Amino acid sequence: MLSTRALIEELVDANHILYDQGVVDGFGHVSVRDGARPDRFLLARSMAPALVDAADILAFDLDGNVLGGDRRPPYLERFIHGEIYRARADVMAVVHNHSPCVIPFGVASGAPLRPICHMSGFLHPEAPVFEIRSAAGPASDMLIRDRSLGAALARSLGERAVVLMRGHGATVVGANLRQAVFRAVYTEVNARLQSEALRLGAVTFLNAEEAANAAAMNDKVLSRAWDLWRLRVQGPATASRPAAPKSRPRRRAHGPSTRRGSRQR
Ligand code: MN
Repeated sequence: MLSTRALIEELVDANHILYDQGVVDGFGHVSVRDGARPDRFLLARSMAPALVDAADILAFDLDGNVLGGDRRPPYLERFIHGEIYRARADVMAVVHNHSPCVIPFGVASGAPLRPICHMSGFLHPEAPVFEIRSAAGPASDMLIRDRSLGAALARSLGERAVVLMRGHGATVVGANLRQAVFRAVYTEVNARLQSEALRLGAVTFLNAEEAANAAAMNDKVLSRAWDLWRLRVQGPATASRPAAPKSRPRRRAHGPSTRRGSRQR
């Protein structure tokens, strides 16, 4: 089990990776359950994920209260995290995002998000859709702004890995941070590919066995993706890591997240 300090380091990386991979922009957030205190989780204060540093991480109880008397404003939608941790003992990390390609699958009836390739077997059989009107009535602001809405979202998620939120985004869970980040990235990839395939004709999705086998295989090699994604946001060569390749990967058009340089490893 990672120490709380190590979890914070990984959570900072997760924030930067999710931005660099186009899963979050100025909005969205990622949390990790404190393994030493399962009734607590770690989540940044309210800010853009790409700018999060270790000093920005706050500790919360499952009710969404900030611990330790820290007065910096938390994310309004922190109840997503607390209520999923309460409902799902197996969940150790949660990503909430508004990545653009998943939005159509939350609003179009008859087009559920399903695993189209082996990288997204975790989506099987399909991602459920949370309808906030069922919990908050017809005049909400679409946000999970209290415990009751967080609990309703957790019920929609059920035992699945991903729940879409109609007209809003998605929430993705994992047994650890790396798995949650991997799933969030490939949920967006799957949504983009599925939209393209549906325009071409009838689509063959992974069946139950293919999805389960592919997901189990990917879980064994999560670190391969994590290490690459981390290199893009971490930059080359710290004392504890081997030197980075001479030519750095090309940056995405929207640019990498930036380190502020104060972080020691
Ligand atoms: Mn949101």
